[in-house]
Formats: sequence, C-alpha cells, structure tokens
Amino acid sequence: MSKKIVDCTFKRIRSRDEMEQIAISAMEADLLSGDSSLISEYEEKIKNVLGVGNAIAVSSGTAALHASVSEVIQNGDEVLVPVICVPMTVCAVIEAGGVPVFYDCQEMSFKPSLESLDKLSSSRTKALITVSMWGNSAIDASIINFARQNDWVVIEDAAQGLGTQNELGYEGCVGDLGCFSTHEFKLVSTGEGGFITTDFDYLYERIRSYTRIGFSQKLGGFGFRSGLNYKLSGLQALLGAQQLDKLEFNRSERESKSMYWEECLDGIQASVYGRRIFRFFVSSYRYNHYAACFYIEDPTKGLSKSVAKLMNEQGIGNDIHRYRQGLMVEFPFLRKAYSMDRYRKDVRLDFPNASRVMDGLITLPCHDEVSMQDIEKSTRVIKNVFK
Ligand SMILES: *Cc1c(COP(=O)(O)O)cnc(C)c1O
Repeated sequence: MSKKIVDCTFKRIRSRDEMEQIAISAMEADLLSGDSSLISEYEEKIKNVLGVGNAIAVSSGTAALHASVSEVIQNGDEVLVPVICVPMTVCAVIEAGGVPVFYDCQEMSFKPSLESLDKLSSSRTKALITVSMWGNSAIDASIINFARQNDWVVIEDAAQGLGTQNELGYEGCVGDLGCFSTHEFKLVSTGEGGFITTDFDYLYERIRSYTRIGFSQKLGGFGFRSGLNYKLSGLQALLGAQQLDKLEFNRSERESKSMYWEECLDGIQASVYGRRIFRFFVSSYRYNHYAACFYIEDPTKGLSKSVAKLMNEQGIGNDIHRYRQGLMVEFPFLRKAYSMDRYRKDVRLDFPNASRVMDGLITLPCHDEVSMQDIEKSTRVIKNVFK
C-alpha cells in the first residue's frame, strides 16, 4: 500500500535541545521515581496552567479514570457514561466495580442529553462521566446543575480536551474531577501518562492515596488503607512540564491547520456523494483542535464509516477508521451491559442523537507532522474521490 498523505498516529517532534535539557535535569534530580521532587514541580505547573486547586500525576489516563471512579463509587453502583467515548472510559468504570449506563448526547454535540440522563438514572447512580471527544467541550453549567440536583459526582474525561476552554473554564476543571491523558498522541505527551485535577481537597486526598498504594499523610502514612501504584515517574514529569509550557503554542499550531482544512474543503466545494461537508461544532470559546471535525450533510446510516475507510485507502488516515469509532454499546465486551431492561436494544432508537453524530462525522488530523501541503494534497484527493 502507498504511503499515507496524513495519518492520525504520528511521531512527535522533539528537538535535541529539549531532550538534552531533560537529560541534564534528570541527572541533577533527587529521584526519578514517583516520589521525586520533579513530580511536585510538574503538579504545581499543571495547577498554574489550568488554574485548578489540586493535581495528581499518574501513569496513564486510564489510571486517572480508574482511581477517580474507584474513590467515588461502591461495588455495583451505576455510572452514567456517554455512548460516544473510548473503551478506556468504560473499562475504568467496570474495573472499579461500577455498572456503566450509557446515555445519549444532545443533538450534534458530545454533551449529555439531560432527558437521556433523567430516563436512565436510578437510586444506584453515583456519578456522571462526560467525555470531550476530539477536544470538543462536553460540559456546561446546565449539566453540572443537573448532576448537583441528583447528587452525582461529575467526572470529566478530558483526555482529548486538554487546552479546550468552555464557558466555565478549562475543560476537565469545571466538574468535580478531571481526568487527563498524556499519552503520545495527546496534546501534552509524556509517552504514557496522565493526571487528575480537582478543587475538592477531600477527593484529592483520597485519590492521591489510592494512586500511591494507600499512602496517606493524613492517616499517618502507609498501611491504613489499600490502593494501587499508579505513580508517574520523575523522568516523565520532566517531559510533561516541558510540554505544558508549549501547550498554547501547540494549540495554536493545530488551530491554523484545522482552519486550513476548513478553508481548503470549503474552497473546493468538497461534496461527498453530492452531500456538502461542513465544520462540526466548534466551541464558541477556545478549542484545542485535537482534530478538525467535519460533518457530512444529511448522512445515511453508517455513511461516515464508509467515507472514513475510503479516505484511509486513499492515504488520508483518520480516527473514525482507525478506531472503528461507532457507538460504545456495539463493542462485544459491552453487549451484556447494554442488554439491561432500561434499553430498547436498538441503538438507533436508544441513542438517536449519537447515531446521527456518528453517521456523518469526519475527523482529520492536525498534529505536529501534518503540513499545509499535506492538507492541500488531501483535499485534492477528497475532491476526486467523492465527487
Ligand atoms: C487517551 C484517552 C484515554 C486514556 O488513555 P491512556 O492511554 O490510558 O492514557 C481516556 N479517554 C479518552 C477519551 C482518551 O482519548
């Protein structure tokens, strides 16, 4: 197969200068473990950049979610999860002993439909997870208020949303808990890694302790409770701190690419089988441009998957194809959770809005490796293939 013009996976640009800086700081550090002062420096930086009260560096975004969910639910409690998310979100709930209950989104959005939440919740519901898919904001004041009324803990899976701002502040920092990933393909990368943010000191204490094998200064040290080792290493924290300094730069670089996709696709009147493509929901606040999201007008069922596959075959790699992104309940490991009484067992009836979003959504990459020429070349291909 011929080489891709663009792809959704990529090699990050790391300069020799930056890597030498990391090596020197590592040599001078007290420790490289998760107890290193490098970790507290990194956490301070997270707090300053995002303007949040507490931050906990952890070993992955999934660890961030697992630790958070574990500390706010009991075995068998229900957790509201969007039907458009990633396996990591759902796995964290299941491994924490929770029961995922899938909700529909609002029309043409990744925000929860309050009507859907209302219908699906029960007295066992303890938490609501929102997921900022492709960096789009998935939360606002009405959602937070609704959760408060019902006494649910709001956990934001902002793994893809770092750097996005909504009407209330940074995505991931407006609910009760924010879970971020610093995996290689996210806006800030430590190779593998993640962090948790919260303004609530008691949640901070408990979750920090969970991620440090139960260690708790407050309780008197080790051995007073159980937990796991989810610590990030000091070496990774150096990478994270360096990249956090470049967050706004990375975001604006992505923004220019994202805008250029729009300009090129608009300029050529790209039509997909006679359908218009337009920009999918860009937050009126600040968007991190995790991807350039477009929508195919008036899609037929499953259109976006076939378009994404065709694009991929033509050298335009994209997330929809790579992750076979559809609705979560279509994954084999979730069929059982989905076949509970509360659903009608027809995804299109149960999740009309989410089905509609996933029928027409196209995501195009805006990362380090994508150049303006790549975007021009890709749009020419798109024009030829889909006329
Ligand atoms: C990347 C990601 C995660 C966590 O991924 P890790 O690889 O464990 O860091 C969780 N949720 C979403 C939406 C993600 O994109």
